[in-house]
Amino acid sequence: MAKETAQQTKSTQPPAHQSPAVENGLAGPEAAAAWTPAFSPGELAAGVCQLPANPTTQRLRQARVLTMQHTLGNHFVQRQLVQRQAAGGGTTAEAVNKARAQQARAQKILLAVYGNIRPIVSYNIEVLDDAALKSRYDDMKIRKQHTNPRTGQPWQRGDAAGVFQTLDGFADQELQIIYVLNDKDAGEEARVSLIAHEMLHMNAAPGFAAAVGPDIDEGTTETLTIKACKAAKITAQPAYGSQVDLVQRIGAIVGEGTLEQAYFNGPSILSSTFDAVRGEGMFARLHKYLTEQSDMEKALSVLRAPRSPDWVKEKIKLIEDHLNSWWVSDDDMAQIKTICATATPEELAEIRAAIAPQVTKLSDHGQRAELRLALGV
Ligand SMILES: [Zn+2]
Repeated sequence: MAKETAQQTKSTQPPAHQSPAVENGLAGPEAAAAWTPAFSPGELAAGVCQLPANPTTQRLRQARVLTMQHTLGNHFVQRQLVQRQAAGGGTTAEAVNKARAQQARAQKILLAVYGNIRPIVSYNIEVLDDAALKSRYDDMKIRKQHTNPRTGQPWQRGDAAGVFQTLDGFADQELQIIYVLNDKDAGEEARVSLIAHEMLHMNAAPGFAAAVGPDIDEGTTETLTIKACKAAKITAQPAYGSQVDLVQRIGAIVGEGTLEQAYFNGPSILSSTFDAVRGEGMFARLHKYLTEQSDMEKALSVLRAPRSPDWVKEKIKLIEDHLNSWWVSDDDMAQIKTICATATPEELAEIRAAIAPQVTKLSDHGQRAELRLALGV
């Protein structure tokens, strides 16, 4: 989570499952062969623990971290990273242990609320002082070839210090590392909510951030964080106020369940449900206002427009489109279930009346049972 002032860079990140080694042109055994045989585990760690200054060695370090994760395991890598921080990063082993406990708590509160949608994975965590944290952020932005919105130029070393007043933490999805600020003043609960936010980014569906843009991405991430914290009676650190407001308005239109499905399982259900309620092409319009035009007011005007009087009919039509596709896939079924889940009881009764007679169109009896359940038959 970054308290960003002007940071509006477009999310062009590749899917989270794409490994940095693949991105760097080093894949699997090749990446390992590039250096593994020459090093003992101790030497390996030494290679990782250096803080290389130039991009080539930085890329090599990323490949090493990944190969270490594959060959020696996550636990080994974590231990090495902890040792490096304790030795040179200015943070103590105590701070790291504390962060590790907060990380476990964050994972637990997320699993309690979203575990049935997605098994929340924890990933590695690094605790860094302000300068080191911003330096890692620069590394990530340079690697992704992002543009600095302030200068309009390719991101350069040192830019994070100019863009952020405060950088509390961020998630590097390619390296699969959560970075958090070594903030001695931050309260326990604020830290847990910060880590939960970053952990959610790491567990989001590949392509969600790129498809919806940074405002909806951050707003959804923080909305999910707030919900999990509330369930665990933890006070979340306030963040992304206007984005949370935006996403809550979107949630009122498409339903909370749709947002959660889109976040964890893929963004298409969000745009299709939004269009079903608001009209064809409306999600694309909202997206354009938010990204290309950076105009929050225009975006909100799309959300304030009255709900179409025919919106239940539109939902019924959307369900019929899925049912009439030549092959009803699991994805079709998931979308139908989500549409039903967003309806009020009165609306569901209307949907049921229209769709229940069509259940027999499904040749798979498992799918027929799923559809009946979704309709409340
Ligand atoms: Zn975030």
